[in-house]
Amino acid sequence: MRISRLLEYGRSVHGTSEVVTWTADGARRETYAEIGARAAQLAHALHDDLGVVGDQRVGTFMWNNAEHLVAYFAVPSMGAVLHTLNLRLFPEQLSYIATHAEDRVVIVDSTLIALLARSLPQMPTVEHVVVVGGGDAGPLEAVPGVRIHRWEELLDGKPTEYDWPEVDERDAAALCYTSGTTGNPKGVAYSHRSIWLHSMQVCSPAAFGLTPHSRELTIVPMFHAMAWGTPYAAFMAGASLIMPDRFLQPEPLAEMIRTERPDKGGAVPTIWTDLLAYLDGHPEADISSLKEVVVGGSACPPALMRAFSERYGVEILHAWGMTEMSPLGSVSRTPPGVSGQAAWDYRYTQGQFPAAVEARIVGPLGDIQPNDGQAVGELEVRGPWVTARYFGEDVPDQEKFRDGWLRTGDVGTQSADGYLTLTDRAKDVIKSGGEWISSMDLENHLMAHPAVLEACVVGVPDPRWDERPLATVVLRESATVTVEELRDFLAGRVAHWQVPERWAFIDAVPRTSVGKFDKKVVRARYADGALD
Ligand code: ADP
Repeated sequence: MRISRLLEYGRSVHGTSEVVTWTADGARRETYAEIGARAAQLAHALHDDLGVVGDQRVGTFMWNNAEHLVAYFAVPSMGAVLHTLNLRLFPEQLSYIATHAEDRVVIVDSTLIALLARSLPQMPTVEHVVVVGGGDAGPLEAVPGVRIHRWEELLDGKPTEYDWPEVDERDAAALCYTSGTTGNPKGVAYSHRSIWLHSMQVCSPAAFGLTPHSRELTIVPMFHAMAWGTPYAAFMAGASLIMPDRFLQPEPLAEMIRTERPDKGGAVPTIWTDLLAYLDGHPEADISSLKEVVVGGSACPPALMRAFSERYGVEILHAWGMTEMSPLGSVSRTPPGVSGQAAWDYRYTQGQFPAAVEARIVGPLGDIQPNDGQAVGELEVRGPWVTARYFGEDVPDQEKFRDGWLRTGDVGTQSADGYLTLTDRAKDVIKSGGEWISSMDLENHLMAHPAVLEACVVGVPDPRWDERPLATVVLRESATVTVEELRDFLAGRVAHWQVPERWAFIDAVPRTSVGKFDKKVVRARYADGALD
């Protein structure tokens, strides 16, 4: 189970499958055969010219594009370790992770030169930077001790075959850091074997269902949780990939869908929320090719699932995962024999786990809870693609790992037939008068109101109840609604004591580096200024 096998398999058996990269001038096309040849050339360049040997780390600072895919295959196949740098991290976090991982080389898109230049001086282990595409590399050249190379010059003319080493399948292939919403980001190393097993699951009909006929719009960034494993799974299945590069706004996404006709896709909820708002305002847009898209990374609002299904014929497949688990965990497909509202109720959940992943709900005292859909606790998981410790740790961090189980920090229930329903991250649960209020539940209800585009609910200190919910709401363009109306709307849907007293109408919900609601910032920014 080596990445080099996936590469050689994809480039030969599925050699005509396509990789489409979006550019300022529209689509650029490559085949799997060409990606394979380029990967061999990159491996030669890294080894012969830059001296990359053993399990040295090669970082990427790139959008989703063909060259990033080349690096995804070349680096692990030659035995080195691919480190996908999350370009949306703060400069100090970026230099922290590059230094922690001891990256020797960084491959960067030329459109990101200025961004990398802000962190590069604080990345002492980096000796080489390879720039993909034209553009002034001056800001990088100014950094002492780093040699700058051009991708084309380095790769052109190199052999298009490589004698891939027989690495141990349990060796590290790739490294990805969490986005570090609390404390420093933590590194997770994936082995060749774990990537293989995970890819097989991603391809399966129970999960993404990739085949050579699939055209997958990979919006989830390759610098975030390995783009949910899509690049490797696609090579296994022969599925064509459509890569948006830096064009992640609704208008170019709609154009990509119209012209490249993907039938599948994957992204966090906020991307789909923005796309939906755009589509509603642009009846000429054509997304009819899209059939099923995976949404995860944060809870998918039911209203979003309904809107895409009913108005655009696109079925959202809700999935849960984490960087620590490669990242795919559970997927919400309906069981046989259910339809109508009952089917929707299944689809709203975080879904079922595959056979390889064991999951349990654990109470505050470490007591394992029954899978009855009622007992609430922290979700713990273990399995062949779930990490057992963070990169660089000799002893697993007890806060995150218990007897070989990963403590996810997510709170919820599991039903007898294995459907996971999350109510919150442990740190976001609102503790009010000794009872728990689910911020996710309030958000989902609010986002079902026609005037509400997005809602983010956080707990804020309260002298009487300990904590109370604060609802921050972004209204749809030209929509109006009063707090009283929203309170009445919620009162019909949740227990009356859960209805927030504190509200703030805001322009946009602050987001993390991977597009999730940044609750830490929301708490800090709006807790005092909110309307009581
Ligand atoms: P980070 O922890 O840095 O945000 P991850 O992308 O690894 O990066 O985040 C994993 C977390 O995202 C999960 O622990 C969970 O809290 C949240 N998450 C992912 N998918 C879902 C989902 N479908 N529903 C609710 N929360 C989700």
